[in-house]
Amino acid sequence: MSYTVLARRYRSETFDDVVGQQAVSQTLKNAIEGDRVAHAYLFNGTRGVGKTSMARILAKALNCLSFDKPTARPCCKCESCIAVNEGNDIDVIEIDGASNTGVDHIRELRQNAIYRPARGRFKIYIIDEVHMLSTGAFNALLKTLEEPPEHVKFIMATTEPNKVLPTILSRCQRFDFRNIQAGDIANHLKKILTDEKMEAEDSLLRRIARLARGSMRDALSLLDQLLSMSDGKLTLELLDELLGTPRSELIIDLVEAIGQNNLSAALIQVDKALQEGLALEQLGQALQGHFRDLMILRNCPDDTELVDLSDNTVREKMTEQAKMFDDAALVYNITVMEELLRAVKASGSGRPLFEAAVVRMTVSERFSDTKALIEQLQQFQSTPATPGRGNPVTQSQSAPAAPAPRPAAPAPRPAAPAPRPAAAERVQRSQYEPTEKKQSQKQFMPPETLDIEFLQQQWQNILDEIEKRGKKSLVVFVQLSQPLSWEKQTLTIQFRPEQNGMRSLLQDRPEQMREIGEALADVLAQPIKLCLASPGAADTDKSDKSDKAALGKAPPHETKPEPEPKASPAKMPPGAKPSQTEINEAMQEPQIRNVQEILGGKVRHIERGKS
Ligand SMILES: [Zn+2]
Repeated sequence: MSYTVLARRYRSETFDDVVGQQAVSQTLKNAIEGDRVAHAYLFNGTRGVGKTSMARILAKALNCLSFDKPTARPCCKCESCIAVNEGNDIDVIEIDGASNTGVDHIRELRQNAIYRPARGRFKIYIIDEVHMLSTGAFNALLKTLEEPPEHVKFIMATTEPNKVLPTILSRCQRFDFRNIQAGDIANHLKKILTDEKMEAEDSLLRRIARLARGSMRDALSLLDQLLSMSDGKLTLELLDELLGTPRSELIIDLVEAIGQNNLSAALIQVDKALQEGLALEQLGQALQGHFRDLMILRNCPDDTELVDLSDNTVREKMTEQAKMFDDAALVYNITVMEELLRAVKASGSGRPLFEAAVVRMTVSERFSDTKALIEQLQQFQSTPATPGRGNPVTQSQSAPAAPAPRPAAPAPRPAAPAPRPAAAERVQRSQYEPTEKKQSQKQFMPPETLDIEFLQQQWQNILDEIEKRGKKSLVVFVQLSQPLSWEKQTLTIQFRPEQNGMRSLLQDRPEQMREIGEALADVLAQPIKLCLASPGAADTDKSDKSDKAALGKAPPHETKPEPEPKASPAKMPPGAKPSQTEINEAMQEPQIRNVQEILGGKVRHIERGKS
C-alpha cells in the first residue's frame, strides 16, 4: 500500500479547516454569501501556509453541485467537490507557474477560457507560483484579466508578490496569508496524530511547530519523516537524529567555555563537536540559536515560551548560563555567528574560520568593559594619592594602549543597543534568594547568622569564593570595596574616596549589581540586598585610624609594607626599565591587577607621582 503524505491526506476541506488564516476565510465566506466574489484573486504568503488549499476550497465553494448557487459551505461530497479535492476537475484548471512559464501555455488558457464550464458554474484557473511566469505569459494573462468572460475566475498564488506585474496586481483582489502560529501548528499536529492513533509529547510537537517557521506543510513533512523513522514512539531524540542537531550538552559546554573566557576549553569543545561528525553549519546554527535563547532567557520570565526548551535540566543550566553574558555580548555573539555562517558557505576553509570566530567570542568578554576600565584607570591616575598612604602612582604601559594589546583583538562590537532595564531608575539594590543547587556545591562555610565583622574579615575570602564559582568578571567590580554595614539582610559596601570611579562604574551598572548580589547570596547562603554607600560615606573622617576602623580590615594591599616614597626623581628617565621588584610592587596594586587580568599585558614602564 502506498503511503500518502500527511499534507495531502489532511488537506483542509472547508474554510473553517484552514489553520491560522481565519481572516482570509471569513472575508471569502462573506464575499460568497454576499454575492460579491471577485473575478481574480491573488493569494500571497510563504510556502505551506494554506494558499493552495484555500484556492481549492474557494473553487469548491463556487462550483459545489449540492447547492444551486455558490456556497460558503461546500458539501465536499458531490462530484465536483471530490474532483477538485483530487485536483482533476474538468472546470478547475490548476497551472503551476514554475513549470509552465511559457506564453504558449497562457495562450492556450485564453483560448479555452472562452468556452463555458462543462459542469460547474465557473471555469476556475488556479495558477500557483504565478510570479514565475515569463513576461510574455504575464501579458497574455493580462489580456484575459482585462476582459474576463463572466464564467471565468482566476485564483493566483505567489510567494513573491513583488515579482508580479503591477498591471496584474491591480486587477486582483489580494489576500496576504499569515505565517501560522507555532501553537496553532502544534495543535493541528496533535489532532492528526490522534487520528493516526499515534502519541507524542507536547514538547516534541511544539519543537516541530517552531522548526516549521509558520509553514504547516513543512511541519507535516517533518512529522512524516519522523513517522517513517519511528518504531511507534515519537521522541525529541528521534527528531535530533533526523535533523542532525548537536547534543545540547555539547553546545552548553562550548558556551560555558566561551563565557568563562577559557580559550583552550572552547577550542577543545569545537573539536569534540566536529569529531562527532557535525557539519560546521549545523554547529554554527546550533550555537547561534543557543545565544539567542540565552538572550531571551535573560530578558523574559523564567517560564517563557519564546525558547523551546522542553528539557528542564537543560533549561535550568541555560538560565544559569544566561547570567554569564550581558545583552551586548549575546548580540555580539549572534552577529559573529551570522557572519561566520555566511563566510563558511562562501569559503572552503570552514574550520579555521569557525575556530577564529570562537576565539573572537571567547576573548571579547574581556573587552566588554575596556572603555570603562580605561576611564577608571585614567581617573585613578589623575587622583592624587591619599596623604599618609604614599602609594605609588603606577602605570602599566599596556593599559592605556588597551584597544589593541592582543593579536586576537575582536572587531569592534556592533552598535547594538544594550538595554539596561532599570538604568533610568538607577536601581542600586535588589534582593536575591540563593539557589539551592549552588548551596550544595559550596565549600565556603558561612555562619548561620551573619554580622558585619564576619563580612569585613572574610570579604576577600567571600570574593575569592565567588571567583571560584566562575564569576571572576563580577569580582573585579567589588574587589576594591569593603562592607560598611549589615542590617536586615542589607549589605552596604563602600569604596574609598579615591576609588569613587569604580563606585560610579558599578552604580551605572544595575545589571552587574544584580549579579553581584546574586553571587553574594549564593556564597553566603541567604538572601542579600546589596547597596552602595554614598560616595561621601568613607570621607567623613580621614585620619588613618578611624579610616581603618570604618573600613574594618584594611584591604590586603594596604597591609603590605609601603614602598619608601622616593625623593627623586619623580619620573623615571624615558626608556629606563623598572626593576623586577618595582614591577612586582606595581602588580600588587589592585587596579593594575584588574587591568592586567582583564586586558592582559605587562608592566613595562613605571611613572611615579609625587607622594
Ligand atoms: Zn459539493
